[in-house]
Amino acid sequence: MKNRDKNISAMSTPAIAEGGKTGDWRDMRPVIDQKKCIPSIKGKAACYLCWLYCPEGVVKAAIPVKIDLDYCKGCGICAEECPAQAITMIKEVDDNG
Ligand code: SF4
Ligand code: SF4
Repeated sequence: MKNRDKNISAMSTPAIAEGGKTGDWRDMRPVIDQKKCIPSIKGKAACYLCWLYCPEGVVKAAIPVKIDLDYCKGCGICAEECPAQAITMIKEVDDNG
């Protein structure tokens, strides 16, 4: 009974990419120019607005910043929020020709 009480709420705990892998439907993907990215330039933890705003939680706040493209949905929010214009959204290549 005690264990059941812990799960009484319908709330879930956010975790990386709960919606699963993106698959092949993504139109655009983010590419980081490390020459413009603030943590890479400064060589220390800084900025990380892309990490903060990514709704999928797939940006790793590290040096260099990394994006897990297996789970990125291509929404472009990271590129919009980046103060250094270090992220460019590029079109996905169509593997089907
Ligand atoms: S494009 Fe969207 S999902 Fe992908 S890393 Fe940027 S903010 Fe996250
Ligand atoms: S928001 Fe832009 S400058 Fe800041 S850490 Fe992310 S990619 Fe780098």
